Amino acid sequence: MTRNGVKAIVSEPSWCTADHPQGIFLADVSHRGDPIEVLLQDGTVLASAELAQWPYNVRNRLPIMSVVLDTEGTEYDDEQLQELASKLLTFAALVVPQLRVLLAEAVEEASR
Ligand SMILES: [Zn+2]
Repeated sequence: MTRNGVKAIVSEPSWCTADHPQGIFLADVSHRGDPIEVLLQDGTVLASAELAQWPYNVRNRLPIMSVVLDTEGTEYDDEQLQELASKLLTFAALVVPQLRVLLAEAVEEASR
């Protein structure tokens, strides 16, 4: 049951692992996948990402990939800036293609 008293049955995508509370507006229904953490060899987190979708919201009806880059911070000295550049190259070359595949699969599933 939605907040405005409408009973709605929402189809669940295969990738969603979120709990869905009752009593919210239909536009606020969101699907979320498990977080994907990209770790560097030293164990630090390069980025985290997750699939998300607000199927009844005007902005994000189709799934999107939510990405947080370099979760350690936003302040860098020169050496850290060089490390950041290396991380971003790795992210662009290795991670983005994988995220695009996951997103394309989710969008395809939502379009069926
Ligand atoms: Zn869901």
